[in-house]
Amino acid sequence: MHLNPYGEDAVNLAADLANNRPGSAEELAGRCRTAGLTLERPVTTDDLDRAQAALNAWEKIVDAAGEQERADLLNRMLAEAAAYPRLTSHPGAGWHLHYRDAEQPLGSVLFTLFAVGTALHLAGRGMHRLRRCEVIECDTAFADTSRTGRQRYCSQRCANRDAVRRHRARSAGA
Ligand SMILES: [Zn+2]
Ligand SMILES: [Zn+2]
Repeated sequence: MHLNPYGEDAVNLAADLANNRPGSAEELAGRCRTAGLTLERPVTTDDLDRAQAALNAWEKIVDAAGEQERADLLNRMLAEAAAYPRLTSHPGAGWHLHYRDAEQPLGSVLFTLFAVGTALHLAGRGMHRLRRCEVIECDTAFADTSRTGRQRYCSQRCANRDAVRRHRARSAGA
């Protein structure tokens, strides 16, 4: 996975894993591979634990009360992930930037990826563009990458669900 300037793939992977937590190291490895991550070493239960901790920290950023709190929480994560960026070239991939030290286990790679990707996303597109679905019983976390930046639902399905509900409420009131 290469971080694009808006960190979109990384922040989407964080949301995907947070909304549906991986139950085993194998599942974590599989879902990261599907998302386009190159796994450099075997994935262990330590990686799973570290990934769960990174997802817990990431969900606090989703649920932050305001922009300043969101920035503070994210800065704490970035500080913990701190490493200097470096130019890297794997076989088959062109030269690109890694925001981490070489030879890191997957859990640490994910921690850095979530922190840097989310920071790029929020700084590039807007600090408010990380939230939960407006359908209360859904509660799915998502990064708003829409053109307008006013996405309120995790999916078209939830948007329809809420539209039907609001229509019913209006009819009942009339
Ligand atoms: Zn790379
Ligand atoms: Zn939803």
